[in-house]
Amino acid sequence: MSHTPEDNVTPSGDAPDHSTDNGVGTPDALEGMLAAAGVSDQPLPDTRCGFVAIVGRPNVGKSTLMNHILGQKVSITSRRPQTTRHQVMGIHTEEGTQCVFVDTPGIHIMQRDRNKAINRFMNQAATQALRDVDAVVFIVDRTRWMEEDQIVLEKLAHVKAPVILVVNKIDWLKDKTTLAPWLQSLQERRDFAAIIPMSAKNGTNIDLLLENVMKRLPQGEHMFADDQITNKSSRFLASELVREKVMRQLGDELPYQMTVEIEEFKTDQRGTLHISALMMVERQGQKKILIGENGERIKNIGREARLEMERAFDAKVMLNLWVKVKRGWSDDERALKSLGYTHDKD
Ligand code: GDP
Repeated sequence: MSHTPEDNVTPSGDAPDHSTDNGVGTPDALEGMLAAAGVSDQPLPDTRCGFVAIVGRPNVGKSTLMNHILGQKVSITSRRPQTTRHQVMGIHTEEGTQCVFVDTPGIHIMQRDRNKAINRFMNQAATQALRDVDAVVFIVDRTRWMEEDQIVLEKLAHVKAPVILVVNKIDWLKDKTTLAPWLQSLQERRDFAAIIPMSAKNGTNIDLLLENVMKRLPQGEHMFADDQITNKSSRFLASELVREKVMRQLGDELPYQMTVEIEEFKTDQRGTLHISALMMVERQGQKKILIGENGERIKNIGREARLEMERAFDAKVMLNLWVKVKRGWSDDERALKSLGYTHDKD
């Protein structure tokens, strides 16, 4: 969706000087007459709007950055990689410029993992998201450069949009003197539009990053209302909140291929939200883990998720959680589609 703002800009620097003319027949006069007649050429709006992809291997801080920018939780964060499966979209509007952030999970997928349906899906989704963006924010973790960072860089090889490299988690950097030479060496890997050291966690340089992104977006009308921060449905946010709580409760025991489906999302006459969430796992053993002894674990998950939902939706919430075993869903394209993992942006 890149426009060429220059197309509609009147050349000013080398235009002939008509100041001594009587005005009739000059371009200025003509423009004035047309405008008076209401047939003026539509000038481009002085607002800007564009798609911005946030890319990087798992755990570098993409969700944390997104949440910080949006000032509200719309994507989940966790210490475990691979937590954001959907293409989360966040919208940030500031001083006439609207950034529509698209997440690209799957961009880091290695060659050997490509055969699983879910990985194929994620890989395609990532490539698709990159094709149509106006700027890319590529995040790496401090002064490390891993194989997966290299994979992301290679996937960006054909991207025409400016790529801004972010070196995140600098608050964690023990020896700060290593930073300057590191930043300099990164420019050799690609002609980055900018390289910005940042801390998504405490907010350092997020303004600088936004400034660098916003000035590169094309002129255009805003796609969303200026106070909108996501186009995700409340249902989707509810399922993400349940996933997050499961992750926090289970840590390393988390069944990697667990998904959450919201079966009911209804407000009753008194304004209470009734939400039913079905958690699907692959094995009986995983179901047991999720439920815990005497149902303690699922109770905790439910309580934490409910409290956060009440904050997010500003309503009293009645939450029902169910666990079901569904073998092999992650390797079945049809099952994925039935769970809403389609290739279309939603
Ligand atoms: P994602 O997988 O790229 O979305 O990464 P997350 O945003 O989920 O972050 C992974 C982990 O890194 C979480 O525990 C975050 O709290 C942590 N994290 C993210 N950004 C920073 C940062 O700037 N500084 C520090 N110290 N931790 C961070």
